[in-house]
Amino acid sequence: METNNSFKEIMKESAKDRYRSVLKRFPEINEDEIEIGYDFSTPYACIGCYNDTSKGDTVLKFIVLVGPFFFELFDDGEKEAVIAHELGHYIYKKNHDSSKTERLLDEFEQLESYYKRKNSEEKIIITYSDKEKRRIKEIQDLYNTYEIYADNEAVKRGYGKQKLSALEKIVKKHYDYLDQMSKEAVKARIERLKAMEEKLGI
Ligand SMILES: [Zn+2]
Repeated sequence: METNNSFKEIMKESAKDRYRSVLKRFPEINEDEIEIGYDFSTPYACIGCYNDTSKGDTVLKFIVLVGPFFFELFDDGEKEAVIAHELGHYIYKKNHDSSKTERLLDEFEQLESYYKRKNSEEKIIITYSDKEKRRIKEIQDLYNTYEIYADNEAVKRGYGKQKLSALEKIVKKHYDYLDQMSKEAVKARIERLKAMEEKLGI
């Protein structure tokens, strides 16, 4: 019963209306291009796309997905900043060909989950080869560029402070849950936002 109610609350809260004020700060995004929805398997938030069949077979629609920790961890301002960051990813996708980045990130995820499985099933610690290390560094750099772009978009729309405190909360409370890629990136992103805060008074 309680679960049901809180699920309803979450659905209500994740509705697009709730975040219309964020969308308003992105005049280049037409509200019809994007949806906001809940996905229990997304920890914080991400951007995905699906075929909007209500408008014919092949109309691709983007959706910002928010998950359980989004509601558990962030206050209202931080939630808006996180949505703004995801909209930043959307703008990047619109203006760049990000298929290479996505393919490389998929590759990394497969490699990481393969090693995780090996570690837990066979109880052996496997270390990356030099070639894999170089590859991972290349992917990490791409991932950082991607995240920094989205952070910059959130800052430009006036959410710098809130984005910084959202990231600080993740590090403080969930650092161990993060995958290796995010661990490497998140502290650098915090330092970067702090420096911007000092310089520009964001
Ligand atoms: Zn991101």
